[in-house]
Amino acid sequence: MSLKSLYKKNEWPNNSISPVLLFIDDLSNLWIDINEDGEIQPEEDWGFAGFSTKGVFKFLEKEILSDYPEVKVTFFVPAGPREPIIKNSKIKRIALPINYNTKSKYFFKQINDNQKYEIAYHGTTHGVAGFNSSNFKQEWETFKSLNHAKETIKLGKEIFKQTIGEYPKGGKYCGYKSNKYSDDSIDQSSFLWWCRYCQNDAVERKILDPFKTGIDSNPFSAYMPKIFGNNKVIDIPCTLNSVGYLNFYSKIRNKLIVDFIKKFINIFLKMRLKRKLLFLLKHNLVISIQEHISPSREDLKRQTPNIFDDKYLLKETFAFLKNFNVWFCTGTELANWIKDKKFK
Ligand SMILES: [Zn+2]
Repeated sequence: MSLKSLYKKNEWPNNSISPVLLFIDDLSNLWIDINEDGEIQPEEDWGFAGFSTKGVFKFLEKEILSDYPEVKVTFFVPAGPREPIIKNSKIKRIALPINYNTKSKYFFKQINDNQKYEIAYHGTTHGVAGFNSSNFKQEWETFKSLNHAKETIKLGKEIFKQTIGEYPKGGKYCGYKSNKYSDDSIDQSSFLWWCRYCQNDAVERKILDPFKTGIDSNPFSAYMPKIFGNNKVIDIPCTLNSVGYLNFYSKIRNKLIVDFIKKFINIFLKMRLKRKLLFLLKHNLVISIQEHISPSREDLKRQTPNIFDDKYLLKETFAFLKNFNVWFCTGTELANWIKDKKFK
């Protein structure tokens, strides 16, 4: 069921035009030492470095968010040690659960306690690695029964409770992949909201898969929250990907060629991004931007989208959105508002 029909124009809080959410995946207790120098660099860190100036979190705050204090962030966090993208990688890494020690618990709790941020659920390990990255099985694909899924979620939720002092209110399928047990497992695990699908360019999608993209290719409903399950879980889709389709040049090793391509593609990207933003704003749709906390992977490919490559595009997006009366919120704030407004 789509909620679109329940809205009137400008019916978001304070007559704002659209809710704006920054969804960042896989903040976790992980460090991948890409250059093998034994030192943490921001691009190698997924959260292991905590609030250290060498860590990714400080990079995000200082380099991206500092000029936009109104922006709120929902971080999707695997509770346990995050699985590598491939088996048998030689790259040194440290992957631990978020409740591993006082330092890690402090880090994730401080973030969740900050009004500007929230920590949401993103599985226990994110999945199971294969011998190459295309064989990686995402966590909700691996569950063999509803009970298997629910028991694993229960375990992960307890790790969250021990770390941030409360159960997570929302979450997201790892890799947006699910199976026939998944939606019931979320519905029966007391989540207020969930992100099931990435709806980037919904209208252009040709192949619809209920366990990957969802079956809605109509942008007016695909870019709006939906509800599912007996407990009316609010489903918040990702609706904007700033640079994810630029994967191809990560394979080109010549920096001059990459810089040249990037320069021209950036002009195209900005136009495309602005056109999409204006469409979402014009129709009061949800603007939820998907990002990854780190570009580093054990197969030495670059994870996209990521906050390092998208730094300038993200800042331009926020600067552009500041011209409008938009509502910067977390997933839980949006879900609570919908529940209060529509189901009371
Ligand atoms: Zn993820």
